[in-house]
Amino acid sequence: MGLYNADMPDTEQPVTPVSVDPNRLKITNNDASGGTLVGFKCNECDTTVFGPAVFCQSCTSTDLEAVELGGKGMLFSYTIVRIPPAGWPGDVPYVLGQVELPQGPQVLAEVIDCEHEDLKIGMAVEMVLKAVPAENGGPDKAVYKWRPA
Ligand SMILES: [Zn+2]
Repeated sequence: MGLYNADMPDTEQPVTPVSVDPNRLKITNNDASGGTLVGFKCNECDTTVFGPAVFCQSCTSTDLEAVELGGKGMLFSYTIVRIPPAGWPGDVPYVLGQVELPQGPQVLAEVIDCEHEDLKIGMAVEMVLKAVPAENGGPDKAVYKWRPA
């Protein structure tokens, strides 16, 4: 789209990062700096889940509706990880936070921009997107992380 438009400057355009997982994160602006978590809500029992689902985990109904879950939540629990999984691209140690969304589901992601001694269960956090290089050389991946709100 528009890659060979004559009005474009001669320089190479940066490639916009793409969602690391479109089933969990929807990018909502042009430079992939904003987005919303996504999931499904059960129309039978109102249970909401984060990420892909084919039936409700609570009542097994298949009457599910795709919903946007936003990017705000509350720190439910966290772990300070000193031995990262193989290929971990970030700093060590890092904080892995389990965050509860207002709709109920929990979302596991790194917590950034917070000193370890400032971490508090129940603190408000917000999602922030970070671009990380793709392993296969494609466009950067937009990865969701949490930071104090
Ligand atoms: Zn249900």
